[in-house]
Amino acid sequence: MNILERFRVPCAWRGGAKQLSVDAVIPLFAVPILSCIAAQTVLCTIITFATTPILVYYLHHNFLRFLLRTKFFLMWNVTSVVMLMLVFEITVVPLLEILPEENWVFIISVAGGIACAYQTKIKADCTSQDGSTSTQGLELGEGSGELCTTCRRRAPPKAYHCRMCQTCILRREYHCKWLDCCVGGSNLRWYMACLLFSAVAFIYGSNLTMTSVCHPFIFIGTILLPDDCSDVYHQLDIALCFVSAIYSLLAGLAVLRCLLYHSWLICIGTTANERRLATSGRSAYEQGSLKNWRHIFCCKT
Ligand SMILES: [Zn+2]
Ligand SMILES: [Zn+2]
Repeated sequence: MNILERFRVPCAWRGGAKQLSVDAVIPLFAVPILSCIAAQTVLCTIITFATTPILVYYLHHNFLRFLLRTKFFLMWNVTSVVMLMLVFEITVVPLLEILPEENWVFIISVAGGIACAYQTKIKADCTSQDGSTSTQGLELGEGSGELCTTCRRRAPPKAYHCRMCQTCILRREYHCKWLDCCVGGSNLRWYMACLLFSAVAFIYGSNLTMTSVCHPFIFIGTILLPDDCSDVYHQLDIALCFVSAIYSLLAGLAVLRCLLYHSWLICIGTTANERRLATSGRSAYEQGSLKNWRHIFCCKT
């Protein structure tokens, strides 16, 4: 934390200089550099994709989680989306393998994802501002729910406190690090729409790129799938497209998993927060082997 505090850099912004923390700047360089490294050879691709999640997890577990709030994951998200979009529009589209309407479907799904992500964040910010102003208005004992010891007021039923947003969030799902805001009753519909658009954009974009740079084959009538990708590493720009496509596919599958999980929670009528509270009583062994591995590899637990 000390290192991060020392390296805070002032940055010119509309309405004066703003402090920009180092944790928010790291992804701006890390994402393009890692992509270029991964595009060198097939071995570099495998090593980069295998080690990056471990490095990010290590960085988060030993440094970032001690900051009250970090923009690291939001900046990683923004940098990745901008990079994938640029690679697609500058390198893949000029290969003339993609129909204009396919490009439009991709652009609309990306724009939809960004717009819904923005709405999710705006609605969450409104809620936390409402929360902080009404904290002063509400006396201790008002409201009908349980007393929140941090806000020092009675929160409405089904509201849970978020340490990072520093307020109680109604029907709180969880704090989404990738959007740097809480997902709750006020923005869940926008969050679900964001997940849907993002999953379509990532997976469809990945498929369009793969079938442009690899030899495609036709699967069940109209669906194109990549077949032979052995010669993509001869040219750096084609290799970069290929690496972006793999990254996009992995991101798409992660988003799809999240979408299915939250859809399932809505179906059974609960929230991610309540489900976590319900399962937190189980033993460490039952919670999964990840927690046990964490004790071995991380210095601070
Ligand atoms: Zn609270
Ligand atoms: Zn939060």
